[in-house]
Amino acid sequence: MNLADWLLRTARRLPDAPALMRGESTVATYWQFAERAARIAGSLRQVHGVAPGDRVGVFMANSPEYLEVLYGIWWAGAAAVPINHKLHPREAAFIVEDAGARLVFVSDGDEGLAQRVPEGTRLLTAPGAAYAALLAGDPLPEPHAMASDSLSWLFYTSGTTGRPKGVMLSVANLQAMSFAYFVDVDDVRRDDAALYAAPMSHGAGLYNFMHVMRGARHVVPESGGFDAAEIVRLAASLGSLSFFAAPTMVRRLIQHARATGYDGEGIRTIVYGGGPMYLADIEEAVSLFGPRFVQIYGQGESPMTITALSRDLVSDRSHPRWRERLGSVGTAQSCVEVRVADGDGNTLPAGESGEILVRGPSVMAGYWQNAKATAEALRDGWLWTGDVGAMDADGFLTLMDRSKDVIISGGTNIYPREVEEVLLRHPAVAEASVVGRPSAEWGEEVVAFVVAQQDAPTAEELDALCREEIARFKRPKHYRFVEELPKNNYGKVLKTELRSLLEGN
Ligand code: AMP
Repeated sequence: MNLADWLLRTARRLPDAPALMRGESTVATYWQFAERAARIAGSLRQVHGVAPGDRVGVFMANSPEYLEVLYGIWWAGAAAVPINHKLHPREAAFIVEDAGARLVFVSDGDEGLAQRVPEGTRLLTAPGAAYAALLAGDPLPEPHAMASDSLSWLFYTSGTTGRPKGVMLSVANLQAMSFAYFVDVDDVRRDDAALYAAPMSHGAGLYNFMHVMRGARHVVPESGGFDAAEIVRLAASLGSLSFFAAPTMVRRLIQHARATGYDGEGIRTIVYGGGPMYLADIEEAVSLFGPRFVQIYGQGESPMTITALSRDLVSDRSHPRWRERLGSVGTAQSCVEVRVADGDGNTLPAGESGEILVRGPSVMAGYWQNAKATAEALRDGWLWTGDVGAMDADGFLTLMDRSKDVIISGGTNIYPREVEEVLLRHPAVAEASVVGRPSAEWGEEVVAFVVAQQDAPTAEELDALCREEIARFKRPKHYRFVEELPKNNYGKVLKTELRSLLEGN
């Protein structure tokens, strides 16, 4: 089936139900939403020559049009390539080229991407005149019939090498993720409203399907992002809000509640995940807002679907080990098997830490045109997550560390190598190594250790270089100039030692 079949079915059943909202204003009913997707699909096929199986880029800020574009792409039988809008155009261009996308939807102001993408790539600004022309085209009457293993969402994540890799998500992967949500995370009702407070290119966007199936509202805040005061306002006027939030966002909501006395009224469910949540924060969040939280643990390679800690378990204080459970990421979601293994893939006894392995229908088919990385990640049918954890005798999984040294700041992954490569371009930098330091505000923040050549660079110069080359959120917040980097016998930098250097100060 085609993911857009869910939209068409809801549009036939509930044509007048409000579907897409910008803040408090409805911008499309379900019928209009489906009609727009059908017209986008028709125009993509007839005017832009998009064929089933083609990849179409989406480098857009959060907006109601984002969902129209996604469903238009699927309706045409093509695959969407959502690109984090916070990325630098240079980084976005790499993804466009790697995915072989010849058409990219962008937001107003992103036209500069044109200079960086391969010749012949077309950019289409949405909303805008070209987008209006798309919507005026002839509709493709039915979503293109697709096999369930067809590529639908090419989800770009980065590897240890710092080069983003395209995770191939099929129709079946996203179906499994969506059904698991209903079973393990939350039910969705018609009067619910999905709020897009986190980037739609990632978890928040992946979580649209359940609300489409149920005919619930999709609300994109006018700010396009996370603004606690705005969310509280929308919760009061719209009611029954559900949204995905990185731990940083939950912390901001707590700070807002402390200052205003807000008690969670109007929010139905906050699904948190994407990075470690401090125990003290979730305890306070539950005491301020009550049982409104569910935790999930997933990764692009098994989107949103590895484990979950249910609403009851997040708020229950009666179990003797409730605190340990609250500090875990919960138990395996229903459609997957999860185990902790040693380096050879042997399952370890309860309590011992090792790499987390996942098997099931939500697991990706592989990385786009990257057989080597695919073979490393998928072995004997199991996904090797690169996360290290331990499972207790009751099946609760606790994450210990990330074997890949990924820094997670504000819920977004930062791959040290990418930042290091930029720093190394400065002629006065001999060596650079980047690690994460715990931050109450962001979860982690980036710190760079730099060994200078004779003439040392200043932190300002390095910051200016980063501004030119990478997204702002990836820039180091602090620079440490050192004589040399700690290394092992093979010359590999010991990041654990760098992290412990940061501990005391
Ligand atoms: P991404 O592929 O961008 O979704 O990043 C996935 C990574 O984020 C995982 O491999 C984990 O390291 C981390 N992560 C996701 N969910 C959680 C969670 N609930 N708690 C701690 N870390 C998490």
